[in-house]
Amino acid sequence: MTHRITLERNTLRFAAAHFTTSGGECEPLHGHNYDVMVTIEGELTADAWVVDFTEAKRLIAGVCKELDHRFLLALDSPSLAIARRDGAYEVAFGERRYVIPESDVAPLPIDNSTAERLAEWLAGRIARELAARGASNLTRITVGVEEAPGQAGWYTLAPPWPPAPEQ
Ligand SMILES: [Zn+2]
Repeated sequence: MTHRITLERNTLRFAAAHFTTSGGECEPLHGHNYDVMVTIEGELTADAWVVDFTEAKRLIAGVCKELDHRFLLALDSPSLAIARRDGAYEVAFGERRYVIPESDVAPLPIDNSTAERLAEWLAGRIARELAARGASNLTRITVGVEEAPGQAGWYTLAPPWPPAPEQ
């Protein structure tokens, strides 16, 4: 039998800048107030929890904080030329070139900063953080990233959880 808890909004949000690429085009730089929705499924623990709400919320809010007020940089983008020098990222798309201090960047191991990929990255991070805290009862983690009201990308992850990317 599987139980499920859901956590969303409240502290589970972040404001960030990005642009995505698509079919040889690149969006202008812009931002979103992202809302994050998380569903965690699993067997109940001996104390009848899937996972403690407070602990899960704190953990997910912490991951959101890493993205808050940052530029979301898709490090694995095949369309962007990315260099890191003198404490900044240089990001180029054709003639367009941005230089952004490292402290303002959330460098992510994804190929495009779509809501779908952000949901996938968040799901992996949340799964690993929960596993590191001893949660071995979980069977599925689903994350939705809403970049505008009524417009969200979702990803569902099941064990084995993906390993942490190399830094
Ligand atoms: Zn956008």
